[in-house]
Amino acid sequence: MYYGYGFGYDPTIILVLIGALISGLASLNVRGTFNKYSKIRNYRGYTANQVAEQILHAAGIYDVRIERIRGNLTDHYSPNEKVLRLSDATYGQTSVAAIGVAAHECGHAIQHQEGYAPLKLRAASVPLANIGSWISWPVILIGLLIGYTPLAQLGVFLFTFVVAFQLITLPVEFDASARALRILDQDNILEGDEHKGATKVLKAAALTYVAALFSTILQLLRLVLLVNGRSRRD
Ligand SMILES: [Zn+2]
Repeated sequence: MYYGYGFGYDPTIILVLIGALISGLASLNVRGTFNKYSKIRNYRGYTANQVAEQILHAAGIYDVRIERIRGNLTDHYSPNEKVLRLSDATYGQTSVAAIGVAAHECGHAIQHQEGYAPLKLRAASVPLANIGSWISWPVILIGLLIGYTPLAQLGVFLFTFVVAFQLITLPVEFDASARALRILDQDNILEGDEHKGATKVLKAAALTYVAALFSTILQLLRLVLLVNGRSRRD
């Protein structure tokens, strides 16, 4: 058995650092883009919650509540509660950034109403993704510590649930933004440069999901290298 296993000498940590850097840059980018377009108010003077209500009603959705939630970019749609929550940076705001985010969350509510398949698949995969993220590392560590590679490999397999979850999140997010931008255009809520601004905000937000997936794939690669490297030494 090889006892020299130590995190201090683990070169694969570089993969995790690259992932963290990419996620950090994507997060900075979305905040910067949101801040830029949160200074541009829409010509018609709609607030984001007004727009959200309008979009929901136009889609025939009357049973979704719109609430205000503390924070910045904490906006989300909760399918279980049928509540669309808009953050302080969005609720009551008239910026094109706020309108874009509110419309995106409406996109999720419409997906829910329509029974959009990727949304259902994503919701169904939450428990597996949670199991994967909670117990993959302990299983891998125990497998490595007791020198039983199949157990460590099981841990790596469990971690693939997290990757799968982030993968299925992409079409859900992209589709919500595509719906939002289509509605904002067709219903003449935003026009011209306003619409371009909202598009940039939603694209920056979509990139954070791509970055998260990429970073998780790098973590998976690291785990594969750790466990396989280990099994070669055994
Ligand atoms: Zn979303």
